[in-house]
Amino acid sequence: MKALLLTEYRRLEMTEMPAPEIGPDDVLVRVRACGICGSDIHGFDGSSGRRIPPLVMGHEASGMVAEVGSAVKDLRAGDRITFDSMVYCGTCRYCRDGESNLCDQRRVLGVSCGDYRRHGAFAEYLAVPRRIVYRLPDSVSFEQAAMVEPLSVVFHALRLTPVRLGDTAVVVGSGMIGLLVVQALRRAGCGRVIAVDLEDSKLELARRLGANDGLNPKRCDVPAEVGALTGGRGADVAVEAVGATAPIQTAAACLRKGGALTLVGNLSPKVEFPLQWIVTREIRVTGSCGSAGEYPACLEALERGMIDVAPLISATAPLEEGAAWFDRLYQGEKGLMKVILKP
Ligand SMILES: [Zn+2]
Ligand SMILES: [Zn+2]
Repeated sequence: MKALLLTEYRRLEMTEMPAPEIGPDDVLVRVRACGICGSDIHGFDGSSGRRIPPLVMGHEASGMVAEVGSAVKDLRAGDRITFDSMVYCGTCRYCRDGESNLCDQRRVLGVSCGDYRRHGAFAEYLAVPRRIVYRLPDSVSFEQAAMVEPLSVVFHALRLTPVRLGDTAVVVGSGMIGLLVVQALRRAGCGRVIAVDLEDSKLELARRLGANDGLNPKRCDVPAEVGALTGGRGADVAVEAVGATAPIQTAAACLRKGGALTLVGNLSPKVEFPLQWIVTREIRVTGSCGSAGEYPACLEALERGMIDVAPLISATAPLEEGAAWFDRLYQGEKGLMKVILKP
């Protein structure tokens, strides 16, 4: 099969590899769409340590069933599907408690980190266990389905965030994840959603997708502005989708007493935290990682048009052009959001 292989850091090559073999509980997927994730870009140059070459990356994918293992009775060749980015065991205590994202044996597709190497979906074929596979509604395209993985991360984060009808929410970071958070918060009943980003074009898009306000920290004092917009009270909830000291401090400073801060961004290993502010104001801080069972809800949200992913897809291109698109994303080309490769 054809695959886009990371042969060394910053070097991607189209190559021939043997198609994966499947076990009795597996599904062989003919990949039709796979998004390039921010974590692939951060891994591509070795900086995250989670994409050690040689590796086929890619974990935001969809496709068609090509073949099923002998124990798989409820899917057949030709079915349109997507699958979780995390392979979980299904039997450990976390999996049994519905927290498959915390599975003791968790392996992320398209990651190689020293403990394991699991090739991903920038290839014609991929084998995955049946338990992580979900059938697509007819009206959801392969490209939309490739967005279910990031959307599931957002749904999971909001499941951990105590949003009530009419709440004011602040979303710090209006990239791919932040823009999905904005839409989901509106659907969850927030009365006011305030997007924060350093780029005006992203704030513009956030407004188009449902944010009431867009604040740029380069131009204003964001917490003071949020205070002014909420009668001095502050926001009820904040979601941080960057993962660095400054945006986390901004998110925390926007909250009212007793507010809740959900951390989705995961860039810096360590950040400086406003401890006394958080303790004395009883702010609830929650980390959110991946997703655990949110795929069906995400597929329904796409089917019903509750969430619009089309404005977040900048380009779709054949897998052969993958190396060039990785370079453009790596250079941080303005205005580029999700790029979907089609093997
Ligand atoms: Zn991802
Ligand atoms: Zn498990």
